[in-house]
Amino acid sequence: MSSHSRRAAIQSISQKQPLPPGGEPENLEDLFGRNVFGLQQMRARLPESAYRALESCIERGQELDPGLADLVASAMKEWAVERGATHFTHWFQPMTGLTAEKHDSFLDLENGKILLHFSGKQLIKGEPDASSFPSGGLRATFEARGYTAWDPTSPAFIRENASGATLCIPTAFCSWTGEALDKKTPLLRSCEALNRSAVRMLKLLGDEKVGFVYPTVGAEQEYFLIDREFYLLRPDLIATGRTLFGARPPKGQELEDHYFGSISPRILAFMHESENELWKLGVPVKTRHNEVAPSQFEIAPIFERTTLSTDHNMLTMEVLRQVAQRHGLHCLLHEKPFAGINGSGKHNNWSMATDTGINLLDPGQTPETNMRFVVFLTAVIRAIDTHADLLRVSIAHAANDHRLGANEAPPAIISIYLGDELNAVVEGLVAGGSGPNRDPNRKTMRLGVNTMPPLPRDATDRNRTSPFAFTGNKFEFRAVGSSQSISRPNIFLNTIVADSLDQLAAEIEKLEGSAGLEGAVQQVVQQTLAKHKRVIFNGNGYSAEWHAEAARRGLPNLRTAVDAIGAYTAPGKVEMFERHRVLSRKEAESRQHVMYEAYVKAIAIEAQSAAGIASSMLLPAATTYQRQLAESIEAARRSGAKSLARQERRLQETADRIEAALGALEALQAAFEKADHHEGGGFEHARQFRDGVIPAMNSLRDACDALELLVDDELWPLPKYREILFVH
Ligand code: ADP
Ligand code: MG
Repeated sequence: MSSHSRRAAIQSISQKQPLPPGGEPENLEDLFGRNVFGLQQMRARLPESAYRALESCIERGQELDPGLADLVASAMKEWAVERGATHFTHWFQPMTGLTAEKHDSFLDLENGKILLHFSGKQLIKGEPDASSFPSGGLRATFEARGYTAWDPTSPAFIRENASGATLCIPTAFCSWTGEALDKKTPLLRSCEALNRSAVRMLKLLGDEKVGFVYPTVGAEQEYFLIDREFYLLRPDLIATGRTLFGARPPKGQELEDHYFGSISPRILAFMHESENELWKLGVPVKTRHNEVAPSQFEIAPIFERTTLSTDHNMLTMEVLRQVAQRHGLHCLLHEKPFAGINGSGKHNNWSMATDTGINLLDPGQTPETNMRFVVFLTAVIRAIDTHADLLRVSIAHAANDHRLGANEAPPAIISIYLGDELNAVVEGLVAGGSGPNRDPNRKTMRLGVNTMPPLPRDATDRNRTSPFAFTGNKFEFRAVGSSQSISRPNIFLNTIVADSLDQLAAEIEKLEGSAGLEGAVQQVVQQTLAKHKRVIFNGNGYSAEWHAEAARRGLPNLRTAVDAIGAYTAPGKVEMFERHRVLSRKEAESRQHVMYEAYVKAIAIEAQSAAGIASSMLLPAATTYQRQLAESIEAARRSGAKSLARQERRLQETADRIEAALGALEALQAAFEKADHHEGGGFEHARQFRDGVIPAMNSLRDACDALELLVDDELWPLPKYREILFVH
């Protein structure tokens, strides 16, 4: 039956043509931001004073007078209704890592007459009563109501669909007691923290002009595209986003013929439409190309302020999924959809910028800019070394465990790649501050005296193996998973760098009186780099030697999500989050709890799905084949021909292995159902899943993948890797 569907799918896919474009081709300039209520639209529709207030809120982080809400709401509604919107929604990012919305229409009745109504109150605050979102225990159900609050720093936008249009208002989501229930609130707080600390440091270094600093991010998104007909024949993909079974194809990615190869017309049509959609939403997507694995692609935007690029990355993932469906394709954002084939990540390019137009990680040409760059670089190096464990937490989830350290993505050890030129500068700074230089061949670097050598903007892949690489004027955090929201990595990055800047500033202030500013900076930089340069590693992060070397250096190696999550609330971490008003203890603890819960849920769903597929689809295929084989062996015996006894024996052995693995997995599941879930806490529960359920699933898979290679191809119910990855 199913094999028939598999054949039919291949037949039908081979006939598919690229979807023609929806309308007339449009000018990119007209298209970009068309569905966004941005500064230009505000300027056109708001009184001058209201516009100025909003602008300084958005551009310079100043507080907004709530009295303006009615004006903004009415202008926003008018603009949206002109564009065909009938509904509005507060668009928010709960701790599921997805986005959420609840639509209300603009419709109102007054004295029996219809009005289109949208008040300032509705703009500013919504009550989605969203009691089913994970809160990690922050809300008991009797007080489950949370509210959403408008985030004026991210512009409202219109989502169009076949049946209408909805005005989406980016919001934060909080409990009535003020705790953050989402990923946006702490991100906004962390941007404020970085602003405070960076401005303090710049003032200390003598920059009086800067008023505001914000982090910038460009998130490169990797994904797989497969045909939707194959997707619908794979219950594992539908339930878990990854294939739980599948023998390796004879040809994988060994030939490397896909990377940057030409893009097929059907895929190109999909890319074209998704880019158009994203441009309309103001998402500045810029590049697209094939990735290393077959059927894998990447889309990358131009960088923006972090809060905006985080919203835009969420929109990018949504749009990719939706547009793929229209093209008869399915977009897989999972970190590891196919075993043995490269997985997907999301490179989080990160830097800091000032309202005066300076990129704080841009190495300068003059002694002053040199000093500024070196101080901010030192702060980042110190932050990453001190909080490598937190950075590891920020990318910890079940799916990412398949990638990290698997010779395709950076290892779970967090280190920094600087490149030879910048590394020499760091070594020079360490040597330069330490009195008479004993080694005449060693170049020293003195701030205010020496200038920086030119640093190459790294456009190559030579730092591919590093989780945190300097690429000329920004850092690239490369261990982030493809499916995850980039909010947590950025919340942590902003906070640890803010903390580090504060520490350095305090030390410089202490020495400034005796040593002068330059002397104080030189000393603090030298001491800090000497202490923290152990986190710098410019070699091959995939190598076994690096694991040994990292252990010698005392760098943490938290191999799995379960090992990492606990560091969220390790000694000193919560105090730091509290110091910068990013997360309270209660909030941090609840988030850690949500992470353990999500881990357990993900593995439990996989286990259930694997057991179901093995017993209801794969074993029956084995039985059918066994019967056919027995018949032909019998016929062969009667006619005196050579028998297929060896094939039958292997089939029986494999089926026995499956039965045994299935039995073990089901016994574990039954035990977990009986056990009290809270016994031993989140860590213990997650650890049991990692050490019990995952190995049991792996044995089941091994046996089933062996079966796939034995059973008559006609009878196999699941589309095979060689089909999913190469037929489109
Ligand atoms: P490559 O890494 O291939 O050299 P780019 O340097 O153009 O490519 O950048 C890759 C990503 O980094 C893009 O999304 C880009 O917008 C982003 N990026 C560039 N500069 C910054 C910056 N100052 N802050 C954050 N992201 C940046
Ligand atoms: Mg990159």
